[in-house]
This record gives sequence, C-alpha cells and structure tokens, in this order.
Amino acid sequence: MEVIGNLKQMQQIADEQRLSRKTLALVPTMGFFHQGHLELMRAARRHADVVVISIFVNPTQFGPNEDLSTYPRDLDGDLSKAREVGVDFAFVPSVREMYPEGFQTRVSVEEVTKHLCGISRPSHFDGVTTVVAKLFNIAKPHIAVFGQKDFQQLAVVRRMVKDLDMDVRIVGVPTVREPDGLAMSSRNTYLDPEERKSALCLKKSLDLAGDMVNKGEVEASKVIGAVEDLILGHPHTQIDYVSLCDPVTLEDVETLERETLLALAVKVGRTRLIDNCLLGGGKGN
Ligand code: AMP
Repeated sequence: MEVIGNLKQMQQIADEQRLSRKTLALVPTMGFFHQGHLELMRAARRHADVVVISIFVNPTQFGPNEDLSTYPRDLDGDLSKAREVGVDFAFVPSVREMYPEGFQTRVSVEEVTKHLCGISRPSHFDGVTTVVAKLFNIAKPHIAVFGQKDFQQLAVVRRMVKDLDMDVRIVGVPTVREPDGLAMSSRNTYLDPEERKSALCLKKSLDLAGDMVNKGEVEASKVIGAVEDLILGHPHTQIDYVSLCDPVTLEDVETLERETLLALAVKVGRTRLIDNCLLGGGKGN
C-alpha cells in the first residue's frame, strides 16, 4: 500500500490507473478505523480493481462547539489495518493541502440537508459535500463507498452526484455493529462504561420500532412515542431527534405506508450518537 500526502500525486496515480483501464473505488474516512470502516474497504475491493482510501479529519464539517480538536486519531494503526484488507493507496492530506490559503468554494445540497442532523449541525453537510467533491476530483474514482450508518450523508452525497452529474457510482454498505448491537463509531471511544450500557438504547429502540411495525402499527407518532420512552428510560440520555421519514427526501411521514427510515440522534453523556434502520417494505436492520 502506498501512502500519499500530495494531491497532485494522487491525481497522477488516478490518471495512470484509469489509462491502464483499471476501475478505482474510493472510501473516504476520517480515520480511527473499526470494523465498519474495514467493511467499506472490503466492499470497495469487491467492486473495483484498485482501492483508494482517504484519511482526513475534515475541519469544515465540524461545528464551532464540536469535537474537532479531540477527534480520535491513530494513523499508524489505521495504515496497518488498511494494508491488511488489501487497500492499494491511502491518501492522507494535511489540512493545508486540502484548504490552501484563498480557498473559498462550497458545495451545498439544499433540501435533503435541512432535516435530521442538518438541524442541529447546520453547516455540517456543506463541509461533507465540499470535501467529498474535492476527493472525487483528486482520486477520480469510478465508485465511492459510504456507510448506511450515516444515512443522511449517503442521501446527501447521492443527491450531489446526481445534481452535478458526477460520474461516480455510490455504493452504500450496511451498518456494522458490536456484538451487543451498538453501531460501531469512532466516537464510541468517548463513552464511559455506564454510558456505553445506556448507548444500547439506540439499537434497542430500532428493534422495538421494527416489532411494532411488523405487528401492524402504521402511525408514526405512536412508534416515535415508544422509541422516545425507551431511550429516555436509559440514564444519561438526551434526544436530539427521533424521525420517521422518507428514505430519499428525508421528509417526515405521518403513516408508514411504504419503506420508511427511522433515524435517531441521541446524546449519551456528552457523546452524540446516531443510528437508523429501514422499516416496512420488508427490510430490517
Ligand atoms: P467516518 O470516518 O466516521 O467519517 O466514516 C467513514 C465512513 O465509514 C462513512 O461512510 C461512514 O458512514 C462509514 N461508517 C462509519 N461507521 C460505520 C459502521 N458502523 N458501519 C458501516 N459503515 C460505517
């Protein structure tokens, strides 16, 4: 695996691979790898000849009071994990490389960013789409792989690709969980042992909602009420949102007539966790 810090060099490599008729898959990440990240890389391996990952803690997607300065990092560990799953190139740019002096362009997706995490993290998705657009121009992938754990991010990236006619196929990978159900996340490391126990309320509430819908419940308010009660029954929890919405537009629904996204954001202690599943339409999580 080759590690590249320079964006011109990454572009050159991408050009060479494309000229030799290789397909490229990109997995954008912020590092501190767990099995969820590695699963994305394995999916990329299955979809393309050449796998490129990026490791970049993107400052523009963090709000002023968020955890940019404390975000966990382990570059050496990340590189050896990526090597083990057969990644070909790791693009690891500096902030200066990505945002040189004078940088002033922003890619902004309008409607789909106004719901869910977009409400409490108002500039987050502009940061995501701007950096992902840049990474697409740098690594020139045919395919890019994202996790369904960040369902809104996936929806926003799909919208951007469609609207800007980007020639990149977006692949979504199901959420990878700890054995007890907690969705893997780099931020789980912030949880103390008591909070770690409480954090199970996210997956438990997805399961509860799944059971209710399987038994015939179609009223969104009833499902949301039960989910909120379950979450608030756990110590140290504070709900940011519980939403039942359309999986493409992310607009709230009142009844579960077709496949619906249940998306949650819950603060456990000071750590904000998200999780989601699709309900109805024969899919679970
Ligand atoms: P991050 O490093 O947190 O920005 O995540 C990089 C990519 O990994 C994103 O596409 C995430 O959606 C994905 N990801 C993070 N956690 C998981 C997980 N538990 N299962 C599947 N994908 C994940």
